Amino acid sequence: MEMPTPCSECKEVVELNDLRESNFTKQMLCYDCYSTDSELYDLVEEAKDIQRDLEGYADHMKGNRGLWRAKLNLLRKQINELGEDADDLLL
Ligand SMILES: [Zn+2]
Repeated sequence: MEMPTPCSECKEVVELNDLRESNFTKQMLCYDCYSTDSELYDLVEEAKDIQRDLEGYADHMKGNRGLWRAKLNLLRKQINELGEDADDLLL
């Protein structure tokens, strides 16, 4: 059954079957918004992993902590560029 439904993010009306649930919220997103949402989710997960390892003084970072910190800052910058606040998402 056809059921036109607006995307929660951009309000574009698409078929209900084409909407997918956000990785962060229960919002239903169109294809484009979901792509951005997924990209953001991957960045946040990667940043969280690095942050956790830095805080835990993970062995594999020994001698390279500066590089990992730079990588983390880069990820945070990418998150902010996607329009989200890295400080909120990484807590
Ligand atoms: Zn959308």
